[in-house]
Amino acid sequence: MVKRIRSAALCGLCAVLSGAGCEKPSLAGPGGSAGGPMASLNDSNPGANMKDELVRTDAEWKRQLTPDQYRVLREKGTERAFTGAYWNHHEPGAYRCAGCGQELFESETKFDSGCGWPSFSAPAATNRIETQLDDSLFMHRTEVLCSRCGGHLGHVFEDGPKPTGLRYCINSASLKFAPKGEEKAEEPATPGPATRHPGRNPE
Ligand code: FE
Repeated sequence: MVKRIRSAALCGLCAVLSGAGCEKPSLAGPGGSAGGPMASLNDSNPGANMKDELVRTDAEWKRQLTPDQYRVLREKGTERAFTGAYWNHHEPGAYRCAGCGQELFESETKFDSGCGWPSFSAPAATNRIETQLDDSLFMHRTEVLCSRCGGHLGHVFEDGPKPTGLRYCINSASLKFAPKGEEKAEEPATPGPATRHPGRNPE
C-alpha cells in the first residue's frame, strides 16, 4: 500500500531541529505517556520473544555491522532523510532486522509518508518490536526497537493511515530487505557464538 498522507514540511523541519530522523513532535499524551493505539501496542507486548533474545558484545556488533548500521542500531543514531536505501523502495517482500535477521515489517504495510524515511503502518507481528518512551532532543517520542536484539529501529507516531493510525518511522540502516519469495533466505552473518539470555533490558 502506497499512500501519501502528509507533507514533508513537518518532517523536514523536525529533521533540521533534531539533526535527523522522523523526529516530528510525538502525539503522546501529557507527561510523555503514549496513549491510544501505542498504549495498546505496549500492553500487548509484555516480555515479547524473550526466549529468542539475542545479545552480543559491543565488539561483536562492530565486527558484524557496517559503521552506519552500528551507529543506528547500537548507538540510536538516525540516518539523514531521503538518503537511506528504502525510503523510496516499493518492491514486495519483507524487511528484516539488519542486526539479527528477525522479520520486522512487510511491504504491504509500507506507505509513502513523505518524510524521507521508510514508513510502515504496522509491524509484521507485535512481538517483533518493543517500544519505550524517548524524551531526548526536547521531544516526547516513542522509540521502536527490535525485540530480538534490542537494536534501535526508529520511532512510532500516531499520524499513520487507518486502520492502525500509526506511522513506524524506521531507519533504512536498521533494515535488510528480502524480496518476496526470499523472505527467509538469509540471516545476517554471525561474528561467532552469541550470548543468549532472557534478562536483557534494552537501553
Ligand atoms: Fe534485531
